[in-house]
Amino acid sequence: MTKPSALVILSGGQDSTTCLWWAKMHHDRIHTLTFNYGQRHSREIESAKIIASMAQVEKHTILTMGNILSGDSPLTTAADLEQYQDWQSLPGGLEKTFVPGRNAVFLALASSYAYANKLDKIVVGISQEDFGGYPDCRQQFLTQMERAMQAALDWEQLEFVAPLLFLNKAMTCLMGATMPGCSEALAFSHTAYDGKYPPTGHDHASLLRAKGYEQAKLPDPLVVRAWREGVMDLPFTANYDELASRVPPPHGDPLAGVDPLAAAGDAGGLDAPTVQHAVNCPYPGKACNCGAIPPSV
Ligand SMILES: [Zn+2]
Repeated sequence: MTKPSALVILSGGQDSTTCLWWAKMHHDRIHTLTFNYGQRHSREIESAKIIASMAQVEKHTILTMGNILSGDSPLTTAADLEQYQDWQSLPGGLEKTFVPGRNAVFLALASSYAYANKLDKIVVGISQEDFGGYPDCRQQFLTQMERAMQAALDWEQLEFVAPLLFLNKAMTCLMGATMPGCSEALAFSHTAYDGKYPPTGHDHASLLRAKGYEQAKLPDPLVVRAWREGVMDLPFTANYDELASRVPPPHGDPLAGVDPLAAAGDAGGLDAPTVQHAVNCPYPGKACNCGAIPPSV
């Protein structure tokens, strides 16, 4: 039986990279689509190029759309980025980095691309757990947008799949660590809003990523890469203790021989069956009857 095909919206960040590796497990044909919407920095797009190539997708397209989404987000303007001491100081509510309408526009364009290229599903890395208050990262939006595009294209089978929708960041980190090849790609993903490498900034997205890896008790492959290149010290959090004790820095996979799910235990409310289900289920984020280890939530 042939597996379905998918279009993955690939920003070059942690979530979309993890979704791409999930899509590789469940689809035979994959295209990736990256939007250049006037982001302040191009590093994210460079990351997407490298990651699409590592994933050996059938086709990667970068769609340049000008600055119609500029709004007043510091992601697309010269406004100051908010920096926080640590993830405990994040205020909650809507982050200033919200780009109004971004996901609606992305999903509409992706639907048109999927229709033209005969791809069955659109995979998108949104999560309503760690969502910075963005209204277009919620299930309600995704379901309604899916229905709207089905009607727009007269294509009832069109599906939007959001594998991370109900996962917190730590679970996403664990998911990445359990899928072969994904950690290597995550070493080239980009999260920092300031576009800098090594990733030493304290913006909302960078802190949530650090919190996720800390709770998952795993080193972030991107941080490990920067450390090995000699451009960044390891953070002082416990998830780097084991690596920090190894001089000179070890080469190869820093997680070699480690079972990420066993190592994480139940820290931070993590739940191994939920992560295993997210990896193995062809319909994560929706009511499923898939026979993979069922979600326990
Ligand atoms: Zn399932």
